Amino acid sequence: MPDVVAFWRRLGLPGLIDVHTHFMPENVLAKVWAFFEDGRSGAPWPIAYHLPEADRLALLRAFGVRRFTALLYPHKADMAAWLNDWAAEFAARTPDALHSATFFPEPGAAEYVAAALAAGARVFKAHVQVGAYDPRDEQLTAVWGQLAEAGVPVVVHCGSGPHPGRFTGPGPFAEVLARHPRLTAIIAHLGAPEYGEFLDLAVRYPRVHLDTTMTFTDFFSAAAAFPPELVPRLADLGDRILLGTDFPNIPYAYIHQLDALAGLGLGTPWLRAVCHDNAARLLGP
Ligand SMILES: [Zn+2]
Repeated sequence: MPDVVAFWRRLGLPGLIDVHTHFMPENVLAKVWAFFEDGRSGAPWPIAYHLPEADRLALLRAFGVRRFTALLYPHKADMAAWLNDWAAEFAARTPDALHSATFFPEPGAAEYVAAALAAGARVFKAHVQVGAYDPRDEQLTAVWGQLAEAGVPVVVHCGSGPHPGRFTGPGPFAEVLARHPRLTAIIAHLGAPEYGEFLDLAVRYPRVHLDTTMTFTDFFSAAAAFPPELVPRLADLGDRILLGTDFPNIPYAYIHQLDALAGLGLGTPWLRAVCHDNAARLLGP
């Protein structure tokens, strides 16, 4: 904990903004943790922060994470609206958490997304792999359109790592962007493992951002290492890269993500932008 604080103090920042953290109803989170801890994701994946919600919040605050998301996502129909109700309640009692919401291709999606926006949702999450849906599904057309129009970011897990899905990879989501070029998408995990293709999308669409979640950590690099020759592109897109960590669902200490980013050698201004300033501009301070 003191090392995390020392990290952002050294950069001259007021703290960190983490755009990729998870808070969910306890029974849903228990299932997510069981999936990883039982080894169903493949490699052993112990949850480093398997703690009660109050303790997880206290830790983020002790780390100096000033703003964070509460990303949650459905794996089936008839779940997103209920998750959104929980997320609104969580945001109401957690002022430093950004009000988060989600959706699924199903009848009524446009209506509950409109309701979440009206209720003040500031960030959405779409998990193409866990949801196993096609992001081009016509039931999502009005959803992407509303988010684009509202300028509200959506964290999209659409890369094929750590697990591929039927509709992961840059192809399907590139078509969504072609139809909604003003969508503020935040590509999770820097698009792992299709890093280059997702960086191309950020070049083509100025509203596309990428989060660093788990990338460059020892754990993640063992499976989907970021190609060293692409590192200069992270510098070129330095105003579009955002700190994300996957807290609390990570098999290592929080500081490891920060040290891994610092290890890229892209310098203090880049780290300041990635760990705080870019997200402050996008999501508010
Ligand atoms: Zn995540």
